[in-house]
Amino acid sequence: MRTLVVDHPLVTHKLTALRDARSDTATFRSLTAELVTLLAYEATREMRVLPVSVATPVGVARGVKLARPVPLIVPVLRAGIGMLDGMTRLLPMADVGFVGLVRDEESLVASTYADRLPADLTGRETFVLDPMLATGGTLAAVIGMLAARGATSVTAICLLAAPEGLRRVERDCAGERAMPGIRVVTAAVDERLNDRGYILPGLGDAGDRLFGKI
Ligand code: URA
Repeated sequence: MRTLVVDHPLVTHKLTALRDARSDTATFRSLTAELVTLLAYEATREMRVLPVSVATPVGVARGVKLARPVPLIVPVLRAGIGMLDGMTRLLPMADVGFVGLVRDEESLVASTYADRLPADLTGRETFVLDPMLATGGTLAAVIGMLAARGATSVTAICLLAAPEGLRRVERDCAGERAMPGIRVVTAAVDERLNDRGYILPGLGDAGDRLFGKI
């Protein structure tokens, strides 16, 4: 597994504002979208392309187009939905699948309550959107679901990651032998988790800050 921490002044600036407990819902939403677009720019760097030629008004230029099949974006419900706009800005042609996992607040174990993914992901580049890579249980489970459908390239885009979560995904997904391409792209790797599984210093509950407490 490869982890890329995007080191860019705009990313750090937006992340700092996102962490600020005083940022209201509207600000949090628009900062999330902007930050995801910046992270997506790096996350899509290795996408497969095909050479093409294009007629300009005065000649012929060589260029590329994205290879088929179209990529699949997988926001993890609920907080991942807040990242979808920022991602589809860069990949408007992508398909979108959905997975929902809920974490038991006591045991911190994740269980699946929604699974709307294509049956066959052979040859598809997949991008998982989950703002907080905390314990890593959710992301490891989602990668397992994608691998079971034949995905061999999964890039997770997370606003923040905890070292514990990165270690867990690395450990749990080491067995996905047909999956050479697991990558995590994030704006920062924070210090650690607290005893309730929150990232410290983090930004709090991303779902609540995006959509309110329910
Ligand atoms: N989920 C969140 O929304 N925040 C955290 O800090 C950890 C998990």
